[in-house]
Parts: sequence; structure tokens; C-alpha cells
Amino acid sequence: MKRFTCGELVEVITAYLDHALDEPSHVAVETHLACCDDCGHFFDQFRVTIRVVGAPPPEKLSDRTRDRLMSAFRNRRQS
Ligand SMILES: [Zn+2]
Repeated sequence: MKRFTCGELVEVITAYLDHALDEPSHVAVETHLACCDDCGHFFDQFRVTIRVVGAPPPEKLSDRTRDRLMSAFRNRRQS
């Protein structure tokens, strides 16, 4: 079964939200989110932010918004 590290998960999260992943990857993301507290919190935050900025499809998120979310996540992982 496919597995993502936390870093890999961040890279594919927008594709996941856009249902652009293949089935094994999609399942692997869900599995990771279900058992990783850090990524679960990150994902909640990500979805809330998308809703706040007007619920565009993830690929329409501005690079700046996406970068901010990604770096917020990375910074927390390091601290
Ligand atoms: Zn994780």
C-alpha cells in the first residue's frame, strides 16, 4: 500500500482536494490524514482557509495563499 510522508502529503494536498490523484494515492492521503494529527490539523486549516477566501477550487487558490498555508505547515513541523 502506498504511503505518504508528511512532506509528501503537503505536496499533493491540492491535487487531493481537486480529486486529481489516482485511487491509490487518494486512499493513501485519507489514511495519512486519519492517523497523523499534524496533517489532520493542517488539512482542517487548509479547508477552512479555502472556504474563507471564497471556496474556489484548490487549483484556483492564488500561489500566495497556497504558499502561506504550506509554509505555515512546514514551520510547525520544524518547531
Ligand atoms: Zn503527517
